[in-house]
Amino acid sequence: MICQRCHIQTFITHVNGNHEHLCESCYMGTVNEKQWRFCYLTSFLIQFAFLKGFRLRYDDAYATSGHKFNSFHYKHLAVDFSLYDSEGNYCAKTEDHTFLGEFWESLDPECTWGGRFQDGNHYSFGE
Ligand SMILES: [Zn+2]
Ligand SMILES: [Zn+2]
Repeated sequence: MICQRCHIQTFITHVNGNHEHLCESCYMGTVNEKQWRFCYLTSFLIQFAFLKGFRLRYDDAYATSGHKFNSFHYKHLAVDFSLYDSEGNYCAKTEDHTFLGEFWESLDPECTWGGRFQDGNHYSFGE
């Protein structure tokens, strides 16, 4: 198989989100691009929450354990935020995150909100 980006012969082929068949090194390049874009987009999510009068606290972002098998936390592509209202009350329910989750999903087609799988405080990219 020939890598569709660098055109070298490759025996191990990865297929990325754009259905490109890539060698290991080009595939990892696209993973880095996703990580950077994910980080950049979370800055808007944070601003949006505070502008709406809520507060956020970082919980797990990158992790090496404690999440489900193949979790996006292990790929630097997920972050959990604790949500607090303007009085400082903790908003624990998945539904509490809906306004934020829908905003997140509107930022990029790859933005994924955990509320779609009962994990309301989980914001990820490409999941
Ligand atoms: Zn390549
Ligand atoms: Zn999470």
